[in-house]
Amino acid sequence: MRYAEVSVNSPAARRRTFSYAIPPPMDVREGQAVLVPFGEKELQGIVMELTSVPAVEDTREILDIVESEPILSPSHLAIAYWISDYYLSPLFDTVALMLPPGFERKAITFVSLAQPGLDISSLSDEQRQVVNIISGQGRVEFKKLEKELGRRKASAVVSQLVRQGILTRSYELGPVRIKPKKELYIRLSGDDADISGLAVKQMALIDYLKERAAPVSWAEARQKTGCSRAVADALVNKGLAAFYEVEVRREPISYENITLSLPLSLTPAQQSAYEAIKSSLRKSSGSPEAFLLHGVTGSGKTEVYLQALAEAIKLGKRGIVLVPEIALTPQTIERFAARFPRRVAVLHSRLSLGEQYDEWHRIQKGEFDVVIGSRSAIFAPQPDLGLIVIDEEHEWTYKQDNSPHYHARDVALKLAELTGSVLVLGSATPDVESYYKAQNGAYRLFGLPERVVPRVGAAMPGVEVVDMRGELKAGNRSIFSRSLSQAINEDIAARKQVILFLNRRGGATFIQCRRCGFVLRCRRCDVPLAHHIAGDVLTCHQCGYRTSVPQVCPNCSSRQLKFLGIGTQKLEQEVRYTFPRVRQLRWDSDATTGRSSNEAILRKFRNKEAEILIGTQMVAKGHDIPSVTLVGVISADTSLNLPDFRAGERTFQLLSQVAGRAGRGLAGGRVIIQTFSPENYAIQAAARHDYASFYEQEIAYRRQLHNPPFTRLARLVYTHTNDAVCQREAEGLKKLLIEESAVRGFGGIDIIGPAPAFIHRLRGRFRWQLILRGYELSAFLSPVSFPHGWVIDIDPMALVQ
Ligand code: ADP
Ligand code: ZN
Ligand code: ZN
Repeated sequence: MRYAEVSVNSPAARRRTFSYAIPPPMDVREGQAVLVPFGEKELQGIVMELTSVPAVEDTREILDIVESEPILSPSHLAIAYWISDYYLSPLFDTVALMLPPGFERKAITFVSLAQPGLDISSLSDEQRQVVNIISGQGRVEFKKLEKELGRRKASAVVSQLVRQGILTRSYELGPVRIKPKKELYIRLSGDDADISGLAVKQMALIDYLKERAAPVSWAEARQKTGCSRAVADALVNKGLAAFYEVEVRREPISYENITLSLPLSLTPAQQSAYEAIKSSLRKSSGSPEAFLLHGVTGSGKTEVYLQALAEAIKLGKRGIVLVPEIALTPQTIERFAARFPRRVAVLHSRLSLGEQYDEWHRIQKGEFDVVIGSRSAIFAPQPDLGLIVIDEEHEWTYKQDNSPHYHARDVALKLAELTGSVLVLGSATPDVESYYKAQNGAYRLFGLPERVVPRVGAAMPGVEVVDMRGELKAGNRSIFSRSLSQAINEDIAARKQVILFLNRRGGATFIQCRRCGFVLRCRRCDVPLAHHIAGDVLTCHQCGYRTSVPQVCPNCSSRQLKFLGIGTQKLEQEVRYTFPRVRQLRWDSDATTGRSSNEAILRKFRNKEAEILIGTQMVAKGHDIPSVTLVGVISADTSLNLPDFRAGERTFQLLSQVAGRAGRGLAGGRVIIQTFSPENYAIQAAARHDYASFYEQEIAYRRQLHNPPFTRLARLVYTHTNDAVCQREAEGLKKLLIEESAVRGFGGIDIIGPAPAFIHRLRGRFRWQLILRGYELSAFLSPVSFPHGWVIDIDPMALVQ
């Protein structure tokens, strides 16, 4: 007998597999999806391993095979184990990261007669009733029997009959819900219809349709002829044209406006990075290498990725490219699509389930050379993987902030090792931990020190840091320093464009009573409520709770409620007030609802429909707007003052990124950073575009304070509706962990806390946390059984949550 270790889709399964016997003649392979009995249920699972000895004596049998081919490759199985072990997450949750979308379907049980023409005279009444329902129908859904006989009886009777060999059970999975996408098409109708007396526009549409032999989508016809729907409807009414619907498979990339791009001849810096990657790709032995490309935006990193991918493809391999957020990087995707037309798959969450399912299977079949997507695209079933690229590797979106709490960069490293792939990381502001690794030889470091746009060696924009304390002293109470408002006026007079950056949404960011100091807070989350100008409501940015603005202070009934703090909506008002004739656009998550909306705002700005673009960190991402010559950072202090050891790094990254938006065109550019801490090292280094000096200072702090990369962290958060219970639980766990570390000989682990989490209350539940600092934290925590309610994050990014 052979056995399978199966990861079962049940929360009760936690981090372990279960042993099942493989009933002959069933043939099961590793990575295959199967249906297994689990308690009273039939559940889906994935075969993780085949063995000849089961882990337990009593094994049940696998019921059925779900798909004939394995869904997970051996390296994906290994990755699933690794994530589960390292991040301490349930095994099936990590397996699920790699399953095709829509995989998790309910099993439907069917019952049928084992053989026709059975003698049923010896059966009981109930048994006969069941057999009668089934006979003549082939098979019957078990649910139907449950309806007729009641749950318990149906289950008991069917079990008896199966044991007697009269009935057999079979299983099928519920349908995948695939919604086909339909597109409206238009064609001519009525061959010799009378076309005299048609309006000019109508005639133009008729001519266009005549010209085009192939089927024409209405969207295309409308775009090409400029005719409105009314024009087409008029023709339809006259019987001259007809609309019809065509089912289309959505191509996540529209190739309409994309023309093939050819490799550029590389600058010397690009060339040496490319050559190194190329020879690493060609190396057939030894462990694969990882590279860190350090270059400002516009220094030609993407061109290196593209040529490295082309090289991998030439060698018969394929690639995966991760970008921080797909909705914000349409330009990047277009560049990949233009270099490898129709060979690029895009994975993102806005495709419908059916479309994702389609795309997943096409990737698995090897239809694409390159898969591009955000964090989870690292799990794409790309065969013959040879190259993994992570662009903007420092971005926090690569870390999943719910379970499994994996970091895509660490998964990529593991995957590269398992598949023998080359890993290329790129960033203008590498994560301090990545740079430290590069310094220590774990990554090969290549610098692209010069910009290629607008021309090779173009200067970085000049940055001025304005001390806002000085502004106050000089009697300027406006949110614009004198420097910034003068610069805005100058640029607008010169018909240039301006970006104003402020990393906070809303109008006023908190509301305080001037008499008693009371701050209005969300009752469920304990964070200050922000005022949103549109709709005049107070909103909680944690849970989305909305309420109207009270007339009086809830604490002392005073009428002196003061709106304080500035968000992007308030900034919009200030701009209107200070620069009355200037047109502006606002870009933050309140102003956008989807991908098209992002693009719409950007397009308007590129088309010069506004002079000023106000935005949160969305504006900082990789958009190329050449006519922007001035970037103003309204306040650099929002991220600087957070109680998190990464606050300096975060600030440096944001400021560098925002500064990179200026001067992409030939006109050059300048950046003005307003702050109350002008002497801060992160701000100073960002102003000089000086990563090296930022890094030196930062790594010294990290070493001194025993923070990563010199140690590792784990964040343990407990939530409960009762604050005292929460605190007691956290204190109890701390005691237990201290004992554990002593008993099991894990030295050098600091346990910080327990303390209330930065957001002490979230959606009505209190949160207390412990921070562990040390080494081998996963191994230490692995055998600890945590009571329900604990969330464990290994290598957390933000401690302020
Ligand atoms: P990054 O990814 O570092 O932001 P890109 O690769 O996007 O840089 O390059 C920025 C711009 O410079 C792009 O428009 C690209 O086409 C162009 N570019 C890159 N490398 C070269 C080169 N070797 N010669 C000419 N233009 C280049
Ligand atoms: Zn008050
Ligand atoms: Zn809230």
